[in-house]
Amino acid sequence: MVRAKKKRLINLLTSSIVMMTFSTSLLASESKAQSASGDWFKVSYIADNTYMIKEPKSSQYNISYLIIGNQRALMLDTGSGENRSHCKQRISNIVNQLTDKPVTLLLTHFHFDHNASIDEFDHIAFADIEKIRERAVDDKTYIFAPKELAFGTYPEKAIVNEWLDLGKNIDLGNRVVKITQVKGHTDDSVLVVDEGNKIIFMGDTLYNGPLIVTGKHNYAPYIQTIKKMQADFNDTYYFYGAHGNKALGGMMRYSILSGTSDLLECAQKEACDYSEVISEQLGGNELTGTLFIKNELPLIYTEDLH
Ligand SMILES: [Zn+2]
Repeated sequence: MVRAKKKRLINLLTSSIVMMTFSTSLLASESKAQSASGDWFKVSYIADNTYMIKEPKSSQYNISYLIIGNQRALMLDTGSGENRSHCKQRISNIVNQLTDKPVTLLLTHFHFDHNASIDEFDHIAFADIEKIRERAVDDKTYIFAPKELAFGTYPEKAIVNEWLDLGKNIDLGNRVVKITQVKGHTDDSVLVVDEGNKIIFMGDTLYNGPLIVTGKHNYAPYIQTIKKMQADFNDTYYFYGAHGNKALGGMMRYSILSGTSDLLECAQKEACDYSEVISEQLGGNELTGTLFIKNELPLIYTEDLH
């Protein structure tokens, strides 16, 4: 009895120490997020060794993510670049405050609002997708297309240090992620799956805000992408988008997939609850198209982004 009591006491003490260590590291990570935040970038600690870097003042409420392993960290997107004309805060400085591990930058896709600060990163990895490889000279120098550069001619190019295989484990050190190609928003978009933490980083395939569909041919692959996600994942997963808004932030739950599938299907048929022809400014360019809304989820259809 005495021995059993002693064992229970030791177990209790051990679990208290584990809890204390966990809360101390959680507090340290949260305080790191707070001190890295500034006038433009706001940082949140969203899961173990995972930070969300928001730009609430950017024109589209951009969100980038930093995923940290024991050996290396993966940075998803470079932010909107709009900070550069507003203040001295730079996204690379934020990242340096959050981790001392070597950082690899991965673009979730190649739109202007995700690549503008790419020159602040010295190790760049792109998804090994034929369409992306085609735009890289000698598999090394990626030349940005005019459509990827709404703010003029910057950045002109990037040096690709690494090509990441689709569907294969990317070992960050005691943390493994995988990238998957997803068509719909663009042909060369990827999402990042962190199975261990049940987190899916969605890029612009899904976020809290009006989704963009460019050209009718993109509806079918987009619907297919969302339906595949419905089949592959379930309500134990957390989904994080590359845009958000003040009310909802960047996180979504599984139920958004069925809502998005319904939204895409009604927009494809031009038969949603609500539709309106719109014309608005997007990244310095005029965006004209149709806004569709179904069950409070919005989508903008446009023939061309630029
Ligand atoms: Zn975007």
